[in-house]
Amino acid sequence: MTGDQDIRSKLPSVDRVLQASQELVSRWGHQRVSEAIRAQLRSVRAGINAQQAPDLSVQAIRSAAERALSASDAHGLQPVINLSGVVLHTNLGRACLPAPAAEAALQAARYPNNLEYDLETGKRGDRDSHVEALICELTGSEAATVVNNNAAAVLLALSTLAKGKEVPVSRGELVEIGGSFRVPEVMASSGCTLVEVGATNRTHLKDYRAAISAQTALLMKVHTSNYRLEGFTQSVDEKTLAELAHEHGLPCIVDLGSGCLVDFATYGLPAEPKASEYIAHGVDLITFSGDKLLGGPQCGIIAGKKALIERICTNPLKRALRVDGMILAALSEVLKLYRHPDSLKQTLPTLRQLTRPAIEIEAQAQRLCEEVARHLPPAFTATTTPCQSQIGSGALPVETLPSFAIAVESIEHHDSDLRQLAAALRRLPRPVIGRIHDGRLLLDLRCLDDETLFLQQLPHLREALQC
Ligand SMILES: *Cc1c(COP(=O)(O)O)cnc(C)c1O
Repeated sequence: MTGDQDIRSKLPSVDRVLQASQELVSRWGHQRVSEAIRAQLRSVRAGINAQQAPDLSVQAIRSAAERALSASDAHGLQPVINLSGVVLHTNLGRACLPAPAAEAALQAARYPNNLEYDLETGKRGDRDSHVEALICELTGSEAATVVNNNAAAVLLALSTLAKGKEVPVSRGELVEIGGSFRVPEVMASSGCTLVEVGATNRTHLKDYRAAISAQTALLMKVHTSNYRLEGFTQSVDEKTLAELAHEHGLPCIVDLGSGCLVDFATYGLPAEPKASEYIAHGVDLITFSGDKLLGGPQCGIIAGKKALIERICTNPLKRALRVDGMILAALSEVLKLYRHPDSLKQTLPTLRQLTRPAIEIEAQAQRLCEEVARHLPPAFTATTTPCQSQIGSGALPVETLPSFAIAVESIEHHDSDLRQLAAALRRLPRPVIGRIHDGRLLLDLRCLDDETLFLQQLPHLREALQC
């Protein structure tokens, strides 16, 4: 006991450590640095109580406080290198913006702008006006509005048009999107009643017809973005469904999930239905995401009949779900790129990544493999290997894209070694995200735009493995 007291009396005071920490104070401020020092002193005292022999020097306490302060700053949103093989990875932020869109968002963030201001008249303007004409041009719609994401778009459309009423939806389309978007639950949140029609694998027009009553608000289709029904299946296409809706004086709406504005097949990609086709087929409203195949910022777009969009825009929920100027500025720049579909493969990062030829990725893998191998500890080997990338975000769920990866293997075939290596890659100054598959850590290079930046990370790998 007395021994412990002796040791404790040697502990420096907060003030003494503070005096030696002026550099830290100028960086983090007096209050945070004193708190960090106090916390460190507390943990040293606890160490003494536990009969350990902690370092009591001012220097040691100062350094520990500095480490704690740096660590608490580090946990922000930070850029990573996506070698996961999933192009539109929801957990990695989905689509990356093209430079002009990012620049426009930055300008909108830094300076006052005409978000809701008409420069011509000097009067109040409408924030949707910055993108509405472009959306209409690209989808063939009469009107459009933008909200926080596609989930919000569906919620807002249903809550405006179907609250307190019934909405028939095919049992084959009661989609769950990763996370928390589930069609039945979104419908419940928007205050409408889901009327399930048909069977899981087969829904016929007569099923919808039988479900229509005086309580029906609209007919709705949901794109089965992230799964596919195969075999003995039947569904009603949007054109037929829209005709049935109109026969009964009802609107027909479709949740497209991913917003595809161009013909994907012309880029050599699996075909995905185009937004404009739905409008041309008589659908009254479509909703889709801005940051999936569209390749823009996170947002949800609602486009279609003017009278319906007007009702949606006067719903107080629209105000709660609206987007800010940064999003609108970025979206507008991305949509402008779609006016030049011939150069879209070069100008839109998402499309560039989706269409990168496997042969080009293979050459990159061969270029980088040796350098990766050189920085690995001796317990690992690296080779190049063909692999399959995924599009991600529920877009085109079944199709994969042939790609190439650097495959790292543990010589002892220990999965735990691979997991440690994957964790070390995530601790690099610019974290690198790979995936473990079949006893190998795969670094799929499809989305590696900045080779130099990646190579600059490698010298930090051994240090990261020691943490
Ligand atoms: C992705 C998706 C959503 C959700 O879109 P978010 O933009 O993530 O909110 C809703 N419906 C379908 C069919 C989807 O594919």
